Amino acid sequence: MDIFTRLQDIVTSSRVSNDPAELYCYSSDASYIKGTPDYVVMPRTTAEVSDIVELAQENRIPVVARGAGTGLAGGAVPLCGGIVLDMSRMNRILEIDIRNLQVLVEPGLVHADLNRALEPYGFFFPPDPGSSEMCTMGGLIANRGSGMRSVKYGTVTDYVLDLEVVMPDGAVIRTGGMVMKSASGYDLTSLMVGSEGTLGIITLARLKIHPLPEARAAVLAHFNDLEAAGRTVPAIMEKGIMPSACELMDSTTIKAVNMYDANLAIPDCEAMLLIEVDGSPCSVESGAARVAGCCRELGAFNVTIAFSEAEMKELWAARRLAGAAVTRLNPGRTRVYIGEDVAVPLSAIPEMLREIRNISKRHGLTIMTYGHAGDGNLHTGMAIDTRDREQWEVLKKAADDIHRAALRLHGTVSGEHGIGSARGIYMNQEHGGALNVMVSIKRALDPHNIMNPLKVGLE
Ligand SMILES: Cc1cc2nc3c(=O)[nH]c(=O)nc-3n(C[C@H](O)[C@H](O)[C@H](O)COP(=O)(O)OP(=O)(O)OC[C@H]3O[C@@H](n4cnc5c(N)ncnc54)[C@H](O)[C@@H]3O)c2cc1C
Repeated sequence: MDIFTRLQDIVTSSRVSNDPAELYCYSSDASYIKGTPDYVVMPRTTAEVSDIVELAQENRIPVVARGAGTGLAGGAVPLCGGIVLDMSRMNRILEIDIRNLQVLVEPGLVHADLNRALEPYGFFFPPDPGSSEMCTMGGLIANRGSGMRSVKYGTVTDYVLDLEVVMPDGAVIRTGGMVMKSASGYDLTSLMVGSEGTLGIITLARLKIHPLPEARAAVLAHFNDLEAAGRTVPAIMEKGIMPSACELMDSTTIKAVNMYDANLAIPDCEAMLLIEVDGSPCSVESGAARVAGCCRELGAFNVTIAFSEAEMKELWAARRLAGAAVTRLNPGRTRVYIGEDVAVPLSAIPEMLREIRNISKRHGLTIMTYGHAGDGNLHTGMAIDTRDREQWEVLKKAADDIHRAALRLHGTVSGEHGIGSARGIYMNQEHGGALNVMVSIKRALDPHNIMNPLKVGLE
């Protein structure tokens, strides 16, 4: 029996396709990387995933898990063809267990749907990606993602208690349990978090949840000196204040955001910090005042504090526009996600900001910088005419310079978007001998390399 017929037998014919039009839809994610699968399959159960992986193993066919395809590093793109497993049909919340501070979810659940379901209980799942309304929990876990509130609450790594994983031979394992801590055996949960579908397919996730804070406030501070804004970030924390979010926008981003929505009218300045504090109402009030004081000490002007839900919503809306706004500066050009996710130690933020400015000048390319400065994670936005080879070359060189500058400053090439196939070339420089250990683990668990081949710089 051919592979297509066997796949139809496993999931019924309505949930498998080899129609070129359908396959095309699965040939890219939100990055610039492309690769077409031979089959797309939409499983509904762990047993189906296990049967599909077993079939792939028997026939040495690549298997690539896909959540929502919002990844920015080509992680879900099938570079060697094979089967794309579209996990979006496995999207149920199976348990909300408030007594044990946890939930059990399927991997295709959209991130924002989890928080909507938790809100009536007064709880939330803190890692908060900008793609919350689109990305899936499986993709977020597989990419070790995070977001605006990681500065205080940590990344997805800190919230995964247990995963059900279909291994490359089709075996189904559980990596953890319901307990809040365990010292039992190797930490396979952490191994799977961030493995980008190269070690197995996540079919269930048990996640910790957190009570919603009673109150929040946001401090908005404008600076006439970009590096002063960068210096303010660690200075706030040195004073013993832990913001729940700390976002930066440089002058180029501010210009782009103002062009996108003129009503925002952000003052023309070199940089803006948006710093959120949360907790009890009185701790929020004093925390916000201390943050505002610290910003002023470091040279900020026009420092304001927002306490109302409506005001804060508006501020966050402006921040969330940043990613899309870059094309306003470059009409007719397309934003290409490349070199967009470096992270550096907090003390190196001013230097990294300076490096990006210099790279922009050197290559004559407009680069906007914004992002989660509170955890050293800076996003860059660049746009080109993607039909122009020369512009591609300039873009790639600029991105390479950004990656290498971050590594020189003891940073990483990816704070949250993952390696995929976009950043594999830097793995050796970043990890040295540890990359050999990663390769050994991959070979031991997936000797025929069927799980998402050519990713994470493992080959
Ligand atoms: C506008 C925008 C804003 C963004 N903001 C953020 C942000 O703030 N923080 C952040 O972390 N990311 C952000 N991202 C990147 C992206 O949304 C995240 O990486 C997200 O976690 C990917 O989820 P997904 O469901 O789209 O996964 P996909 O792109 O489909 O897949 C990502 C990786 O996960 C693997 N995978 C997916 N499901 C499974 C599974 N069930 N088992 C095993 N492997 C699996 C895939 O093979 C692939 O390697 C943003 C993206 C966009 C477009």
